[in-house]
Amino acid sequence: MSRVHIVGAGLAGLAAAVRLSHLGARLTVYEAAPRAGGRCRSYHDRELDCVIDNGNHLLLSGNKAAMTYLAEIGASDKLAGPTDAAFHFVDAPSGARWILRPGSGLIPWWIFDPNRRVPGTRALDYVSVLRLLRARKHATVADCVDTTGALFRNFWEPLTVGALNTAPDQAAAALLRPVLLQTFLRGGAASRPLVARLNLADALIEPALAKLDVAGVAVRASTRVDAFTFTDGRITAMKSDGAAIPVAAEDIVILAVPPWIAESLLPGLKVPPAGEPIVNVHYRLPRAVAAPGVHIVGVVGGLAQWVFARTDAATTLASVTISAAHAVVDDSAEQIARACWQDVAMALEVEGLPEPISRVVKERRATFDQTPESLALRPGALTQFPNLLLAGDWTATGLPATIEGAVRSGFKAAALARKLNPRLHAGANFAA
Ligand SMILES: Cc1cc2nc3c(=O)[nH]c(=O)nc-3n(C[C@H](O)[C@H](O)[C@H](O)COP(=O)(O)OP(=O)(O)OC[C@H]3O[C@@H](n4cnc5c(N)ncnc54)[C@H](O)[C@@H]3O)c2cc1C
Repeated sequence: MSRVHIVGAGLAGLAAAVRLSHLGARLTVYEAAPRAGGRCRSYHDRELDCVIDNGNHLLLSGNKAAMTYLAEIGASDKLAGPTDAAFHFVDAPSGARWILRPGSGLIPWWIFDPNRRVPGTRALDYVSVLRLLRARKHATVADCVDTTGALFRNFWEPLTVGALNTAPDQAAAALLRPVLLQTFLRGGAASRPLVARLNLADALIEPALAKLDVAGVAVRASTRVDAFTFTDGRITAMKSDGAAIPVAAEDIVILAVPPWIAESLLPGLKVPPAGEPIVNVHYRLPRAVAAPGVHIVGVVGGLAQWVFARTDAATTLASVTISAAHAVVDDSAEQIARACWQDVAMALEVEGLPEPISRVVKERRATFDQTPESLALRPGALTQFPNLLLAGDWTATGLPATIEGAVRSGFKAAALARKLNPRLHAGANFAA
């Protein structure tokens, strides 16, 4: 009976695995790291003595593929966020605060309401959205919007850096377009900010592994696939730790690894280069400084860009995101933590509190290079090899390098695997 071999247990690989396991396909997942999750992972940090994420991950309620994945793994209740679309901001230099509240309807009446829109902007400024929607493929975000006014500083810049991990003068407008279409332009119901209630593993990874376990799918951690063997234009074996894993004639391989690994396993494959780093700083505060739950504050004009505060009865874990972080990534952890703390203290209104203990996490290859030049280098899911499919946030999903893109690519690979071999769903799934 044929089998699907999924290489990589990040969100793309897990989404493909969950989909295929529902069909009863026989599957094995191989993951190089000791744990699944890839760039979306959590672990216990000894210094802070709590579980932290490699980086804050924000979803929006309009992220359809991600919401479907959560529903399929039974984890829709593992996200937290405000009940309506409300984005709290603070301006670091002046301390001014505002809340951006896209209205609940499909028609963006809220841009006519000064209390809902970005402060200092006029309704007319929002016409730039239309230019962005019509952007040509070589355009950057800065080519499409006015880069001088309040709308740019308080909306376009934070949105672009946050969603594309790239400054607006370099970021591909074509990648921001689907974000707007899927979320803000579908009204408030599609624009609610959502984060993992506890941590990424709890919301997005462990429930998927539990589903796979129940379905009898083997997820082989600490199993790096080092090479493929090709015979007559097909993959016939994979090498891992010196041993050969046979790939039978009707088997399918889904390669769901980061681009630089895919490139090394498949010579000749063109992939987009790595983009900007993302730096996260986690501060464990000695007391709870907010109501229990998760609070998100955008910081404009500071070093910190987003502050996520998770509060339980006794403590707050404040986690800071710095995207497009090339300017600070080589600074020492102490320097970064010290420089960010005043933004965090302002965002959480605890200015008198001394700088708490912290952990700095630097993800140097957080996303692919999300500039117009790289877009043509994103390969589709189908390859020249009839039994090999690609998945990952860097493949040609049309979306930025996000959870939504990774999950969508995994779902697509699962659908194509089924098309390539309709007999995949012919039997129950029993782990090898
Ligand atoms: C700091 C940070 C913040 C982010 N913030 C957000 C956010 O706010 N919102 C959002 O939507 N997205 C965010 N992202 C992006 C999101 O994390 C990624 O898009 C997504 O996790 C990518 O999933 P993937 O499966 O495509 O790739 P990966 O997560 O890279 O998974 C690939 C897997 O393959 C494994 N692997 C590699 N080589 C091999 C091999 N030879 N054999 C077997 N296995 C192998 C890896 O260990 C890994 O587990 C962020 C990313 C980072 C790093």
